[in-house]
Amino acid sequence: MQKIQMKTPLVEMDGDEMTRIIWKSIKEILLQPYIDLKTEYFDLGLQKRDDTEDQITIDSAKATQKYGVAVKCATITPNAQRVEEYKLKEMWKSPNGTIRAILDGTVFRAPIVAEGIRPLVPTWKKPIIIARHAYGDVYRNVEYRVSEPGKAELVFTNEKGEVSRQTIFEYKDKGVLMGMHNLDSSIESFARSCFNYALDLKQDLWFSTKDTISKQYDHTFKDIFQDIYDREYKEKFEEAQIEYFYTLIDDAVARVIRSEGGYIWACKNYDGDVMSDMIATAFGSLAMMTSVLVSPDGNFEYEAAHGTVTRHYYKHLKGEETSTNSMATIFAWSGALRKRGELDGLNELVEFANQLEEASLKTIESGIMTKDLALISELPNKKTVSTEQFLVEIKQTLDSIRG
Ligand code: NAD
Repeated sequence: MQKIQMKTPLVEMDGDEMTRIIWKSIKEILLQPYIDLKTEYFDLGLQKRDDTEDQITIDSAKATQKYGVAVKCATITPNAQRVEEYKLKEMWKSPNGTIRAILDGTVFRAPIVAEGIRPLVPTWKKPIIIARHAYGDVYRNVEYRVSEPGKAELVFTNEKGEVSRQTIFEYKDKGVLMGMHNLDSSIESFARSCFNYALDLKQDLWFSTKDTISKQYDHTFKDIFQDIYDREYKEKFEEAQIEYFYTLIDDAVARVIRSEGGYIWACKNYDGDVMSDMIATAFGSLAMMTSVLVSPDGNFEYEAAHGTVTRHYYKHLKGEETSTNSMATIFAWSGALRKRGELDGLNELVEFANQLEEASLKTIESGIMTKDLALISELPNKKTVSTEQFLVEIKQTLDSIRG
């Protein structure tokens, strides 16, 4: 069979550790035999980021703005231990944080639901999609290690040179200090992408912050959402018979656990980071959570929500067999290929993406799965396979679907 031809390259962002291994195998086993894969390749592996002083990350985000669709492998966000392990010049910032700061937008995370993998929360019947604001807050913070007594102040100087000054804290001893920011324009585009996505899916939208404690910062998020909703979306929501609902984050958490699912939960950047792992794990496995960053000017970056699966990578390095779940990484590729196909009018590519997802789900539903799923699956005839074998099994299912 002739390979599917692409018109525009995908921006390909390679990554680290176990997911880097999976990345290569997915391309070799599931993509290249079927597609004449065109990509603009950026190696975001930690070594290369260090070699380029992180310029490669910035370049990959700019390429995404140029081409419109990117697919990203999980990457290490260095901490002190990684600086030592990789002998880094600097503790580089989170690549995802850097990319999101350039692209702006909202990250939508949805669990992949397969039959035979029942959520840990018995009431959950439908997926819960997390919409995570992808700009600012703790991910673009400025931090300071206070090592002596002194006064910390919050100072804002406007363009005319007028100064507003507030004391944050008077340190008598050592401590820590942090400054963060956000922008009305970014919060507005976050709100609009959430409202649009809810209308698209005809699902209720929940939004939560800690506005009772953060009376300026979080309250501004709440006010902007409400204002945009009242002015631009109220009627459309009523027509679609869906609801916009704001509540405190603690109340939201309690309600989510008691709910049936089937709605979108919009969260600030950090809340979305944490809550999406909770939702993913409770729906089955971290490895079953897809993630797409949608920027306000219509760029898309697809990735798995999980990290580089370090523990498995060290096993792999020792020559031991691993059973790492590649579902979310496969769905990152299928999501990006489908979007590329839609934008370029390539039906064949869209169809391939759909078949790849179908084959992946069918493989699991036939009982063939990686260890993380085998531990929780209720299927009677389940068989645990290795990282590589899982991909080979999906290929066989894919070939039978494609005929
Ligand atoms: P992780 O997601 O790699 O692993 C967390 C836990 O979930 C581990 O127990 C792991 O075994 C399990 N798990 C995750 N994905 C799995 C999969 N596909 N198959 C089977 N089990 C899976 O997160 P971590 O251990 O906190 O972080 C490891 C590295 O990943 C860190 O260096 C971190 O900076 C990075 N990270 C990257 C991203 C990203 O690029 N999007 C996100 C999170 C963490």
